Amino acid sequence: MAPPAPLRLRIDTQALTENWRWLARQSGAAACGAAIKADGYGLGAHQVMTKLAEAGCRDFFVATWNEALALAPIPYGLTLSVLHGVMPDQIAFARSVAGARPVLCSAAQVALWRHAGGGACDVMVDTGMNRLGIDYREIAQLPRDDLHVATLLSHLACADEDHPLNEAQRVRFDAVRAAISADRYSLANSAGILLGQGYHHDLTRPGIALYGGLPAEGLRQVVVPQVRVLQRRRARAGDTVGYSATFQAARDTELATLNVGYADGYLRGFSGKGVAMADGIALPVIGRVSMDLLIVDVSAAPDLREGDWVDINYDLARAAQQSGLSPYELLTGLGRRYDRIWV
Ligand SMILES: *Cc1c(COP(=O)(O)O)cnc(C)c1O
Repeated sequence: MAPPAPLRLRIDTQALTENWRWLARQSGAAACGAAIKADGYGLGAHQVMTKLAEAGCRDFFVATWNEALALAPIPYGLTLSVLHGVMPDQIAFARSVAGARPVLCSAAQVALWRHAGGGACDVMVDTGMNRLGIDYREIAQLPRDDLHVATLLSHLACADEDHPLNEAQRVRFDAVRAAISADRYSLANSAGILLGQGYHHDLTRPGIALYGGLPAEGLRQVVVPQVRVLQRRRARAGDTVGYSATFQAARDTELATLNVGYADGYLRGFSGKGVAMADGIALPVIGRVSMDLLIVDVSAAPDLREGDWVDINYDLARAAQQSGLSPYELLTGLGRRYDRIWV
């Protein structure tokens, strides 16, 4: 058996499920699903799906068929929608994954689906993002006879801003709803839920908020990276620290070298700005982040030793400010080297 990795993600099950319950309440009468693409925003899609299904979530979203395969077999009663649609070389596979269905994104994909035998599918309509989906001005071209649309979706481009496109997309989506019959309609991502009832329809699709990446009262941090101290050392006054010698010690300084770096998603934007924590004591990042290593000032933590574990400060709002990364990038960049520990 391999020893535990020297870096781990502590993932708070209760924070995740309570975030989902809060979003479900904010969604009002609409059902609340969960986006678990990009391996559950870095946490582990299978675990996220299992925990949220226990909390009552039924509708899950991934990007690709490879992500769907990693989750198969889909437990009975859950549905998995594959957002990137289906191509001719995927159609046989797509039809073989029970519980999963494509979100068809073009008239050609609709035709492909019908030709392969049809059945319940989802359809994405683009109402102003110009990214993925059938253009809302072209839905008349959609071959609709005997097409069973389970969920008709659209996606907001600016939900986290006060932007006129939100209202424009809502109005366009309502016109599409009047024209295309579906079992359910779904527009809102995380930030869209907070835009109010007019955006909720039948089903909401939060992602980032589940994982604590939307600043809102009622949402909690879910992930804390914890990393091991590999070495403790003292830099003497005048010494430099790390690559390119970007930090020079003004006085003797106690340092610890930690087992995390930019290859683990702790990117160079944290150089000289990030913070680790040991029993409530802040340990500022010194100099540049290396690929696999990080150096922090531990002058304030005289008892910290080689082999000890420290928390990386990963409050997503604050870490985003320090690093220049978005909460989405901070989560999805977390690499494969962490053990993922659900508590
Ligand atoms: C990623 C995604 C979501 C979730 O978005 P968040 O901003 O993370 O809440 C919802 N719908 C679609 C189509 C997406 O691609």
